[in-house]
Amino acid sequence: MSYLVLARKWRPRAFPELLGQDSVVRALRFALGEGRVHHAYLFSGIRGVGKTTVARILAKALNCEQGTSPDPCGVCSACQEIDAGRFADLIEVDAASRTKVDDTRELLDNVQYAPTRGRYKVYLIDEVHMLSTHSFNALLKTLEEPPPHVKFILATTDPQKLPVTVLSRCQKFALRRLSDTQIRDHLASILREEAVAFDEGALASLARAADGSARDALSLLDQAIAAGGGAVREAAVREMLGAVAPDLIHRVVTTLAEGDGEALLANIDEAYSLGVEPEPFLADLVRALHDIAVAQAVTSASGDDWTEAMAARLDPETVQLYYEIGCIGRRQLSVAPDPETGLRMTVLRMLAFRPTEGEVAPAPSTPRRAERQAPPTAAPRPQPQTPLPKNAEPVIVSRVESESHAAMLGLGTRSEAQAPLPGEQVAGAESVLEGLGLAGLMKHIVMNAVLEKKGDGLVVTVDTEAGKLLNPERIDMLKKALCAYYKGPVAVDVIVGSVTGTPAQLRQEAAEAAQRRARDALAADPGVEALKRTFNARVNENTVRPRDDKPEEQKA
Ligand SMILES: [Zn+2]
Repeated sequence: MSYLVLARKWRPRAFPELLGQDSVVRALRFALGEGRVHHAYLFSGIRGVGKTTVARILAKALNCEQGTSPDPCGVCSACQEIDAGRFADLIEVDAASRTKVDDTRELLDNVQYAPTRGRYKVYLIDEVHMLSTHSFNALLKTLEEPPPHVKFILATTDPQKLPVTVLSRCQKFALRRLSDTQIRDHLASILREEAVAFDEGALASLARAADGSARDALSLLDQAIAAGGGAVREAAVREMLGAVAPDLIHRVVTTLAEGDGEALLANIDEAYSLGVEPEPFLADLVRALHDIAVAQAVTSASGDDWTEAMAARLDPETVQLYYEIGCIGRRQLSVAPDPETGLRMTVLRMLAFRPTEGEVAPAPSTPRRAERQAPPTAAPRPQPQTPLPKNAEPVIVSRVESESHAAMLGLGTRSEAQAPLPGEQVAGAESVLEGLGLAGLMKHIVMNAVLEKKGDGLVVTVDTEAGKLLNPERIDMLKKALCAYYKGPVAVDVIVGSVTGTPAQLRQEAAEAAQRRARDALAADPGVEALKRTFNARVNENTVRPRDDKPEEQKA
């Protein structure tokens, strides 16, 4: 049994057979029906999507011996010669191979002569964007004043490269890339016609590999029939395409999410032993990451269960980063010592850039972060000597609720109306407060307070928010703790107000400064710079951590 190559056998020969180009077909049929065919058309679209096929059908519609119509008969000698590619008045030029101005001039010199066989001379110039500037100028002259018996059909994969002067003289149609579903359905109907058995999964793989091109889909189908010994089977197709079982991709992403390097490499080894090629493997991996990102961005997206689960598990920035690393990895496969090494390095790079579990930082300046970054303080720390900043003076209590709360407790408050407290700074106030040996809520209260001297006694001003936690017992505990610290009775006034320079604030400032330094150091690091340049990477600022949590040395 000898197969006529499917791509040729199933090439559409009439407008209704064209796949997925409904609006183009409608417009052309209408023009033909009305007898108002433009003198120059430009068809753009990816390779194998049907540009020259449309052009040939149009040439038939114009030259069919039954008369110009949207439905050429397909049986007259003009129609048959056009289908067979030997019609004298259809002049096909591949601009990719004819870029010399002389060739185009020679071609266009003949434009003035009447057609030998049909009603119209049809010039089909494929990949027209490849013409030289001189050739474009020669073409342009003809397009400006075309003889009535001449039609130009220009086709291109890259319309951006055409001069505006040419574009403006053509009626333009963009042919659509075919969807996977369109291709799958098309292949299925052909296989039924051809009485060839097939698996749905095989067609899905073929459609994806065809990447929107009907011609590529058909030539892949030819190969698949040969590879499957007369049937189109999923395993054979996967092997032929070097495609990867979805399960294997799922396992690789899952092990990445788990940070399990050993399992990750075991999966890569398995893929390799199954004969999977690194390039399609990475392509499928990147596609899976894309699906996860879509599921994260669009809640209504109908991803499969696994994709949905991964979308919930991975944070969107990580998915973006993996995707970038995957794409760059694909590009670098050709310069890797061998593709397998390139693949391994790419997934290892993903693993290396993975944020450690639990290190996804909350937004800066949240109390949680400040607490987490603050080192534990078990014992009083004599150092650092932290003089209270000048602006540490408590100023106002603005919240009525705080005032009423303070009043309930018989506590004083500070307001702008009141004269500034004649308090003096207590040397090492921060370490005094930290050194009181208080825990839990009490610790939270003193960490959000400032301590000043007033006469012979002390004033503790608790921050408005933390002040809400005060009650008589806690005030008493605070007073006792201060007396214990100073080893003797001390008069302590506890008031509530907005304050600056509390231990918590100082720690947070120090942590933020350390974070800034880490970020700056990273930005200035030539190694990081090289990473950015080589991998087109960007630093995920939220994952930058200072190497230690030492508070910034005081500059004053
Ligand atoms: Zn005909």
